[in-house]
Amino acid sequence: MNVILLGAPGAGKGTQATKLVEKYNVPHVSTGDIFRTNIKGQTPIGVVAKSYIDKGQLVPDEVTVEIVKNRLNEEDCQQKGYLLDGFPRNVFQAEELDKFSNVEKVVNVSVDLSKLLKRITGRRVCSKCGESYHVDFLNGKTDCARCGGELIQRADDNEATVEKRLAVYTEQTKPLIEYYEKAGKLVTVDGDKSIDAVFAEICEKLG
Ligand code: ADP
Ligand code: ADP
Ligand code: ZN
Repeated sequence: MNVILLGAPGAGKGTQATKLVEKYNVPHVSTGDIFRTNIKGQTPIGVVAKSYIDKGQLVPDEVTVEIVKNRLNEEDCQQKGYLLDGFPRNVFQAEELDKFSNVEKVVNVSVDLSKLLKRITGRRVCSKCGESYHVDFLNGKTDCARCGGELIQRADDNEATVEKRLAVYTEQTKPLIEYYEKAGKLVTVDGDKSIDAVFAEICEKLG
């Protein structure tokens, strides 16, 4: 299956992706995770990406599109398809993706924007596997329930950067809802519900 998870920062894309890849046995392709791996490894891509991510801006399209194109060309994606999380983030990226891959469905995880600041500033992620948690539900735990890795706060999950990311979402990413609606590929789920309820709605709509 070739599916995109679309949604604002903090909407729950990563959280749902973890559950979806288990159920559908499809590779999870997260551009944010790819950039963070490159930043950790201090690769040339990582150095470029960090300068934009720290400011809450999008990494330039020529870098991002190339990474996704290469990743989708790998054998696992060629065989099983993909669950794209965090890409595309603007109309240009969507048009480029249409040139090299056949997107089947786009799941729009819709969350009231007023809730996102709290979700993002309270987010803690596993430094090893990337799993997302929220301080409100961790009861003081500092390690990952899946792999035991240390939970950390992402450098870009601070209030100033979040405001910028939400503005970028509204300006550049939100128009993709209409883009995929016109293409007849969009399904929308209510991302304000509990994690399990959102998951159930996505599964139902993916069929
Ligand atoms: P995204 O990948 O879209 O940026 P995440 O999956 O990392 O979002 O989730 C952002 C934060 O919100 C995390 O702290 C996560 O635990 C929390 N979260 C995710 N889904 C829900 C939900 N349905 N209800 C409440 N909190 C959620
Ligand atoms: P979020 O939790 O905000 O959805 P991600 O982990 O998806 O965060 O992305 C983190 C950052 O990585 C973004 O704020 C952006 O700077 C960069 N990034 C991720 N995906 C893309 C993309 N498709 N195009 C450009 N920049 C991206
Ligand atoms: Zn982990």
